[in-house]
Amino acid sequence: MLQLALNSADDYLGSLNAAPVCSTRTIDELRQRLSKPLSDGGLDPKRVITELIEDAHDGLLRFQSGRFFAWVVGGSVPSALAADWLTSAWDQNATIAASSPAAAVVEEIVGAWLKDLLRIPESASFALVTGCQMAHVTALAAARHSLLARIPWDVELSGLSGAPQLHIIASRTVHGSIHRAAQFLGLGTRNLILLEPDNGGMLRADDVARTLDQLPAGTAIVVLQAGEINTGVFDPFAKIIPVAREHGAWVHVDGAFGLWANCSRQYRHFLEGAEDADSWATDGHKWLNVPFDCGYAFVRDSVSHRAAMSFRAPYLAAAADARDPFDWNPEWSRRARGFATYAALRELGRDGIEEIVDRCSECARTLVLRIGALPGARVVWEPSLNQGLVRFFDDDAETERVITAINATGEAFFSGTEFRGMRAMRVSVCNWRTTRQDIDRAVAAVRRALARETSLT
Ligand SMILES: *Cc1c(COP(=O)(O)O)cnc(C)c1O
Repeated sequence: MLQLALNSADDYLGSLNAAPVCSTRTIDELRQRLSKPLSDGGLDPKRVITELIEDAHDGLLRFQSGRFFAWVVGGSVPSALAADWLTSAWDQNATIAASSPAAAVVEEIVGAWLKDLLRIPESASFALVTGCQMAHVTALAAARHSLLARIPWDVELSGLSGAPQLHIIASRTVHGSIHRAAQFLGLGTRNLILLEPDNGGMLRADDVARTLDQLPAGTAIVVLQAGEINTGVFDPFAKIIPVAREHGAWVHVDGAFGLWANCSRQYRHFLEGAEDADSWATDGHKWLNVPFDCGYAFVRDSVSHRAAMSFRAPYLAAAADARDPFDWNPEWSRRARGFATYAALRELGRDGIEEIVDRCSECARTLVLRIGALPGARVVWEPSLNQGLVRFFDDDAETERVITAINATGEAFFSGTEFRGMRAMRVSVCNWRTTRQDIDRAVAAVRRALARETSLT
């Protein structure tokens, strides 16, 4: 069965250069192919896998392609993909060290390496979670514990009813995963105070100070962005964090992709001061290029982190000599996701990660500027890192039509977004595979789609 999967995966990855990046099936076609009767007697596994490959294949998006620029996603470096396969074959339950000693030790090592690479204090605690969304939930659960413990209020014991109200201060452009973390944690999205960023897309320290002045001391979480989703802009950490400190606020950094700029000598200046935050969230499955299902949370105050997550069940023996992921993670049973990160970090090394960050950023800038120079296109945001925006015929509907036309060529894949009240096409480059040749092919595809749109209108 694994040989069958291996051959198919090998074909799939080997055909990335020639195959369309987009899905070539409609949702209805996929439903027709995949919705088979659920059998009573079961089926031969070989038939199950062969049919799964046949039926799903054309409905896949080729995220692994160097010409996939939609949303913010990575590919998988070879060792991380292989380690991820082994993780499934090994089928460890990485709840506690006793349930998977090797997984627990690998997570310890990976946590230390990541803190070093991402310039996070060595003493910070961490958790390997499913993505940046759950990294936010984990870190903000620690924030909630810490702020309320000072009242004092034991939120794990008493819940939130009757507790002083906490607020989250963030930019209007904050990622939706912060809204969702507020939903999950009972903080309430109504208690998000969203501030208008300046023209450069950054929060202003004096706005944050004024907002904090109006709230009781020690009741706010300030969320700063290291890489805003549309523009890749960083908030001015060195200006805002000292202000937040004066007001007893907790500072959390959303660095889903942008925290990796720390690995680049060219770009790490954007993160100046971010090391003074209280918690940080980032992804493995974006710029580190490990397969999906991998994010990281880091918390300066490990006592609050542990208090927010930990629980002792009589049948879970706490390790005396090892780190139990259960003390730091929101999940109970969990995938041993440290192996893929371990492999990627060893394969790439510091230089390899820096090279990916630098090359992706250069490719993003070239791609945005070259698309912007085509007739009918204009640059809306020139990348300072790896994210940029373009718009077509200065019209929302035309922009959407051109994105659809480009994606239909199968040569490149982009997604649309809303920026300052208008539609735009977002260009995100964070795949280790993307080369200058990919940029040439993508520009040619955009040129063709634009020429076609022009002749139609
Ligand atoms: C992708 C992203 C997230 C959400 O991360 P997931 O890994 O999808 O959970 C949060 N913030 C930013 C800035 C992102 O780019």
